[in-house]
Amino acid sequence: MASATNFQNPSWFLSGPHTASIRDHRLAEDEGNPTLTDPYDVLVRISYVGVCGSDVHFWNHGGIQTFVSSTAPIILGHEASGIIATVGSKVDSLKPGDRVAIEPGFPCRRCNFCKRGQYNLCLGMRFAADPASGQHGTLTKYFVAPADFVYVIPAEMSLEEAVLVEPLSVAVHTVRNLGLKAGESVVVMGSGTIGLLCAKVACAFGAERVVLCDVLPQKLEFARGYVEGCETFLLDKGQMDTEVEAKRLLDALSPASADIKGVDNVIEASGAGSAIQIGIFALRNGGSYIQTGMSGRAKVEFPINVFSAKELNLKGCFRYGAGDYELAMRLLASKKVGVKELISSVTPFERAPEAWEKTGKGEGIKNLIEGVRD
Ligand SMILES: [Zn+2]
Ligand SMILES: [Zn+2]
Repeated sequence: MASATNFQNPSWFLSGPHTASIRDHRLAEDEGNPTLTDPYDVLVRISYVGVCGSDVHFWNHGGIQTFVSSTAPIILGHEASGIIATVGSKVDSLKPGDRVAIEPGFPCRRCNFCKRGQYNLCLGMRFAADPASGQHGTLTKYFVAPADFVYVIPAEMSLEEAVLVEPLSVAVHTVRNLGLKAGESVVVMGSGTIGLLCAKVACAFGAERVVLCDVLPQKLEFARGYVEGCETFLLDKGQMDTEVEAKRLLDALSPASADIKGVDNVIEASGAGSAIQIGIFALRNGGSYIQTGMSGRAKVEFPINVFSAKELNLKGCFRYGAGDYELAMRLLASKKVGVKELISSVTPFERAPEAWEKTGKGEGIKNLIEGVRD
């Protein structure tokens, strides 16, 4: 078992596929304690880090577009909660001891996208555990973040739940970008963490009919318990004709969808090529489709004639932007969305690779890694 003792700031560095170790990521020091160099930053003592699909991809392949190496390793982790240890001299929104959720991407604040309020599209983004930007991740003892990307959580929210603010913000950004209107129907392809949270947010936004799809019956069983009033549809892995499969889905939903021959919205959260096609075929004329999360494959076959003929709205969606974290926090605080049910396991810091392996095998929904203990 890896050891985290004797280090000022023990951190899980990934240096290649299946190659990670705990090393010291030393921060500036003041009388032996880690300190800050920017007066607008805060130092967070990490409590929990969530494992998501991208972490597993990093663990298995060493990166997504940019890859780590032994000379350029990166600290993993981007979903995190913690307790404020120190605040910079100019910070008055937070104080030591505050329990917080961390928004893990820090935009440049100067480029055109930042100025237009689309900071998730920032050209100089430093996102946690992104080797391209060199920004280290949250699987560390002390994490430095700008104070305005750190959110105090309500007293009744646990630090475990606070980790889920990150994927919930992805869902909030998705449903907002989709432009879902009250009373509309929405089909969610994929019933993993993001799909489940999108369904919950869609309900909170007033969707009348929410249908979760997956190829695994156990995922749909969980979805029925988690998303109150939702419907589920088991996709047939063996059906290669996606048009036929979309018709089977719509038949199962009739008669409500029969009059307009399709659903109003599709949120694609699986990344599977066949699910993308089924989503396009299942939409009504003029319906809206959004692709959320990162697709499993870089290139897919797309029914472009159907897309044109139906005059569909097609949208992409990347992380979260202005106001998404705030709304995610309010949805949690008001109990419109609960996330406790999604937490499947907690692995000690020293055994982090077990959590990546577990998630890679599809075990559990949201697996957490505990921060360094004293
Ligand atoms: Zn993630
Ligand atoms: Zn920018």
